[in-house]
Amino acid sequence: MKYQDGRRVCNICRETAVDDNPAAAEAAREVAALLKRAGVIMDGLPLRIALADADEIRSQRGVRTDFSSSTGPSAGAVLGFIRCRTEIGTEGGGASLGPSVRRVVEGVTILQGLPREMFVGTLAHELGHAWLFLASVDDARPWQEEGFCNVLSYLIHRHRSQQGNAEASFYLRCLEEDPDPVYGEGFRRVRAQLKSYGYAQALRFIYERGRFPSA
Ligand SMILES: [Zn+2]
Repeated sequence: MKYQDGRRVCNICRETAVDDNPAAAEAAREVAALLKRAGVIMDGLPLRIALADADEIRSQRGVRTDFSSSTGPSAGAVLGFIRCRTEIGTEGGGASLGPSVRRVVEGVTILQGLPREMFVGTLAHELGHAWLFLASVDDARPWQEEGFCNVLSYLIHRHRSQQGNAEASFYLRCLEEDPDPVYGEGFRRVRAQLKSYGYAQALRFIYERGRFPSA
């Protein structure tokens, strides 16, 4: 089948494709629950997922579009992005603290019609960017930021793979074997670091300090 934006999709991928908002919301609930178990809590973050086709994503201005992998079936495709903003309050947090700064994630946009396994991996990845933004991690290196986001995809695929999902195992292998210095090497470096600290402890460190632990 051919999508309107020119993408071609096979029948197997069509079967689980995430085309509409109810399907996206349902998959998002699963992703959020699994990430919460791993210690990635999105306090107050509304899981507003928008779907857009490749033409609509290309026409977006002022947002950072994102690849979730440089190998596998998604290689080179823009799969999603987050929309976020920083609000400077006027009344703020008291005279001595200066104006209050509030970070807001408005939502996540994901490429429409992805097969479900690719959708949940991409969503976890984009929620990683949202989490790092809310944690004020502003000067991470690209390999740390993208690597961290791919660790979240990895956690989702690993869980689903352990439940016998063959597609999840396929995406796990794509991550393990991705030669890209940012998305692949970065993923393996950040995973090793989080593992050595313990995931929950490392996540707390990053959230409280606004930076990754030094390697
Ligand atoms: Zn990314």
